[in-house]
Amino acid sequence: LGVRVDGVTFDEALARCLELADGPPGSHVVTVNPEFVVAAGRDPAFRDVLNAAALALPDAVGVVWAARWLGVPFPERVAGADLAPAVAGGLGAVGRTVFLLGAAPGVAELAAATLEADYGARCAGTYAGSPRGADFDEIATRVRQAAPAALFVAFGAPAQDLWIHRYSDALGVPLMMGVGGTLDFLAGRRRRAPRTIQRAGFEWLWRLVLEPWRWRRQLALPRFAAAVCMQRLRGQSSRGV
Ligand code: UDP
Repeated sequence: LGVRVDGVTFDEALARCLELADGPPGSHVVTVNPEFVVAAGRDPAFRDVLNAAALALPDAVGVVWAARWLGVPFPERVAGADLAPAVAGGLGAVGRTVFLLGAAPGVAELAAATLEADYGARCAGTYAGSPRGADFDEIATRVRQAAPAALFVAFGAPAQDLWIHRYSDALGVPLMMGVGGTLDFLAGRRRRAPRTIQRAGFEWLWRLVLEPWRWRRQLALPRFAAAVCMQRLRGQSSRGV
C-alpha cells in the first residue's frame, strides 16, 4: 500500500531505538496505524516522511493483521505507547535523558513524573509548544539546551511526524519519535484499554467507545480494510490464483 512497516518484535524495536539514541542526530521513529496508511495514500509528502524513517513500528493491530493476510508474518504489534516509556527507561538506566514536547499545557510535566517514578527515566525538559512555525525558535532553544538523547513529540498525527521531518536537522537530537496520545496516557488524562482488550486486538474499539468524537478519524479503518483486500486480490491474480 506504499508504506514501509518494519516487522519487528517489541524487544527488537527497543534495542534498535536505544542503538539509534546512541548514534548521530536525526533518527525518526514512526508509529504506523491504518489512519497513517490511508493518509499517506492521499498525501505523498506524508508517505515519503514515513518511508524515510529509521524505524516504522507496526503500532496498530490492523497493520499486523493486514501484513499477515498479505503474506508477511509480522511477529507482533509494537505500540508506540508501550515502546516510548520503555525507551525512556532504557536511556535513564544509562544516565541519558528524554525531552517531552507537546500535549496540552501541564500534561508533559505529569507524564515526566510518571516516567521518572515508574520507568526510571530522566527527563531533561518538557514543553507544550505547538507545531506552528512561529513556535519553533522557542522549542529549538529549549531542546538544544537540554541536549536529550530522545525527543518525544505529541502534536497528533500527521502533524508530529511532518514536524519532526522538517526540523530534525536543526534540533540535533539522536532519536525522535511522534508519540500521539502517549503523554496523555502517562499523565493519567486518558485511559488505555485493559491488557486483555489490547491482547485480543480491540484497543481501537475501546478508544472509539471512550472517545466517540474519533469516529471521523476511524473512518480510515474500512478504507484501510478495502485497500488491503484489493491488494490481496491483486497479489492473487498476479500469481494466477
Ligand atoms: N496535540 C498538541 N498540539 C496540537 C495537536 C495535538 O499538543 O496542535 C496533542 C494532544 O493534546 C494530544 C496529542 O497531541 O496530547 C495527540 O493526540 P491524538 O488524540 O491525536 O493522539 P493519537 O490518537 O495519535 O494517539
